[in-house]
Amino acid sequence: MRPLSCRCGQAVYFDNHRCGHCGRALAFDARTLSMMSEETPGSGLAFCGNRGRDPHCNWLAPDGGVCVSCSMSRVIPALSKAVNRRRWRRLEYAKRRLIYDLLNLGLPVDPDRLEFVFKEDRRTNPDVSEDHVAIGHRDGVITINAAEADEVYREEMRQAMNEPYRTLLGHFRHESGHHYFDQLVDDDMRAQARALFGDERADYDAAIQRHYDRGPPRDWQQRYISAYASAHPMEDWAECWAHYLHIQAALESAVAMGWQPPVPSGDWRESFVTLAIGLNELVRSLGLPDAYPFVITPEVGRKLDFVDALVRRFRTRQP
Ligand SMILES: [Zn+2]
Ligand SMILES: [Zn+2]
Ligand SMILES: [Zn+2]
Repeated sequence: MRPLSCRCGQAVYFDNHRCGHCGRALAFDARTLSMMSEETPGSGLAFCGNRGRDPHCNWLAPDGGVCVSCSMSRVIPALSKAVNRRRWRRLEYAKRRLIYDLLNLGLPVDPDRLEFVFKEDRRTNPDVSEDHVAIGHRDGVITINAAEADEVYREEMRQAMNEPYRTLLGHFRHESGHHYFDQLVDDDMRAQARALFGDERADYDAAIQRHYDRGPPRDWQQRYISAYASAHPMEDWAECWAHYLHIQAALESAVAMGWQPPVPSGDWRESFVTLAIGLNELVRSLGLPDAYPFVITPEVGRKLDFVDALVRRFRTRQP
């Protein structure tokens, strides 16, 4: 995240509604990716209609109504259930961070082509009709099981799936990869994509079933960023995409904090490895689990470089 501050100079967080120093109302402007603060309370900032009520959005809505991020939520969990208010807030916060990532990289964010569905299933709410709501993407619709916004549920799932890392933001970043694959990998880039990730036309359901039945290949750590990435070429792509977004976001924060100098474009992976080791040492010093529990091998590095090349290529082709 880039440095954000109030008009008074106070550094503020991305989700702050009010400056803790001068009390001005704050709102994030997705057009300029900057924080706006009101000179006089109530004067002029076009707040998102979801401010001051669930999900407590702090973005601007220059066109009235709700902001671009809120407008992309097609289904939200039933708010008659108190826990869902908290879940929705967390889901929207993670989504706003994803939208920030995408806009910051110069990628298109089109509410007509990308939507979000947040719903529960009967495992956590017997009053709903669906037995199983899987996290996934199909035809521009990203579905997130709303229970993933609960720490206890997510930690149980993390352990059951034997994953070192499971976060809401990670889900959003991963699923967005499925959406952007079609937009970035055109016919000119397809052969390269297949050489790195495999053939994306491989039978998806059979591959996922095989992954859950037999587990990842013995040498997966050499070739994949996560065990799940080995399940299918599209999952490998989506995992690498998510990690690319993690890395770019973390590097931007590190530079903003003055922890490292601005990163030359060719050095981002090396800079991140140094940062990740420092970050892990830092949280280990505080008795916390590793912030980035992954190893970027040379083979994984080549996949991340390809994602980077595609994003840059897309950007340079925009008018
Ligand atoms: Zn202030
Ligand atoms: Zn909003
Ligand atoms: Zn996936």
